[in-house]
Amino acid sequence: MITVKNFVFNNIEENTYVLYNETKECVIIDPGCYTKAEQDRLKNFIVENDLKPAALLNTHCHFDHIFGNAFVCREFGIGAWAHKGELNNINRAESYTSVFGMKMEHPPLPVRYLKDGDDVKFGNSLLKVIHTPGHSPGCVCFYSEEDKFIIAGDTLFQGSIGRTDLPGGDYDQIMDSLLNKLMKLPNDTTAYCGHGPDTEIGQERMYNPFITEKM
Ligand SMILES: [Zn+2]
Ligand SMILES: [Zn+2]
Repeated sequence: MITVKNFVFNNIEENTYVLYNETKECVIIDPGCYTKAEQDRLKNFIVENDLKPAALLNTHCHFDHIFGNAFVCREFGIGAWAHKGELNNINRAESYTSVFGMKMEHPPLPVRYLKDGDDVKFGNSLLKVIHTPGHSPGCVCFYSEEDKFIIAGDTLFQGSIGRTDLPGGDYDQIMDSLLNKLMKLPNDTTAYCGHGPDTEIGQERMYNPFITEKM
């Protein structure tokens, strides 16, 4: 069974997740750790729980989700996995960050490109990759059917959806991703979002105004 640990990192209050199971293998999703103190919090959690990082997964590569990519790859000797559609975001992350008066260590390029339907295995757990473009071209979600949750990135939020006004964003695409992919999941699936609190698919199907107006 997968345990989901959440950290809230950086000024943009991004959710970083560490997923682990009985084998102690883990994956680190969207490490947004920006300060040394945030890097230490993430590292200490992994060391104190004796976890073995298998991969760094990115739901997408907006700068607030990859501040810690270089640190995590170096510290744990692992590579980043992301959808190829995120290469533009990776390449412009440093300049985009400087616009906000922040600094970022150059994020390493992905060592594996994720596609819709891929399996991500760690320990005795399996995550399904669901490609959900719209907020960004290479957005993916990580779905555990067995443990009834999805790591939704910035595609779905409690009562809201991801913005589509950033480069590569597309409103029609995000609605297609939401209605034809995420809303097809069982109602009792917990959605862990890229920002803010987690929610359930059934709750969003009933009450999310962006979704109910289209259903
Ligand atoms: Zn984003
Ligand atoms: Zn974000």
